[in-house]
Amino acid sequence: MVDGAELVQPSRRPDSDSTAREGFYTGLTTTNEANCSPSEQSDAILQKRDVVEGQGFGRLGRRVLRMSSFSSVESANWHLTDRCNYSCTFCFMKNLPGIEADLSRGKEVIATLGKMGITKLNFVGGEPLLHPNLKDFAALARDGGMTVSIVTNASLLSRDKLLDLKPSVDWIGVSIDSSREEIEAALNRGHGRHVWNARRACNSIKQEGVKLKINTVVTKLNFDEDMRPLIAELRPLRWKVFQMLVIAGQNEEHLSRLAPSKEEFEAFKQINREVTLESGQLPTFEASDDMVDSYLILAPDGSVIKNSHHRYEFVPLETVLSSGLSGIVSPSAYHARGAKYEW
Ligand code: SF4
Repeated sequence: MVDGAELVQPSRRPDSDSTAREGFYTGLTTTNEANCSPSEQSDAILQKRDVVEGQGFGRLGRRVLRMSSFSSVESANWHLTDRCNYSCTFCFMKNLPGIEADLSRGKEVIATLGKMGITKLNFVGGEPLLHPNLKDFAALARDGGMTVSIVTNASLLSRDKLLDLKPSVDWIGVSIDSSREEIEAALNRGHGRHVWNARRACNSIKQEGVKLKINTVVTKLNFDEDMRPLIAELRPLRWKVFQMLVIAGQNEEHLSRLAPSKEEFEAFKQINREVTLESGQLPTFEASDDMVDSYLILAPDGSVIKNSHHRYEFVPLETVLSSGLSGIVSPSAYHARGAKYEW
């Protein structure tokens, strides 16, 4: 539907590499906290810290503590690229530094995430389907035991592409912000046929038995919309609704025109909160404050993006592996936004 070539930045593309995939990282002992509530998990972690530090286990103790901290945060979003064939005005990942990971770097990144106890990896963008190694990375993550997810604008998700990705992907998230083409066009989400195309893609995803998620961004253009009929028609297992996030250097020039107030976001929530999804769950709503310090997010080169004050900072992934997530992801904020679910 869309000619993706016009917005592609070729110099940032890694070379494709057909190196054979293999199981590459060893499992990591993680604490069994799956049956605990988030607060119980935090308590459990603190208790482990007390025990470990109290007994003076030195390096071993610090390692156990670090693994406990990581094991509480089990999912990560990797923004494989900031290139996109769309140019949505509200996009908050359009200007990222560094070179996109090639297959070799991707192996390192996924292996490191495995060591950190990540069990679900979400490939996002930009448009992740533009990355030449998306399928390789998905297979690597899956082979390493992770649940694999992709979030896409769906414009490049042809039936052939879906069948190609299907063996390595558990979830596909499709971005739709409105049931009205004119709203999507006003947001620059596509070129006037986004809703039509997203419908097509969602139907194909369902038919192929891949788990479907819908992502919606609330702005001043859609905060009063009742999207329940569209959601009921598309039948996703999850519907995540985000208040437009404003980040310096990405989209702050659209703050006054597009960013909804707290009250406007709440209005969208009130209208749409009672649609029951196919999973039996209700939608998940994330205000922009809920997103601060609550995601483990990676830039295209695999560095960790810290989003604390509506501004990004970048920390090498290997540094995070050795020093922990403190100051980058707060386990309580991570769990408070409902990050852990039946995936
Ligand atoms: S489709 Fe997503 S990545 Fe692309 S411009 Fe829109 S919000 Fe940004």
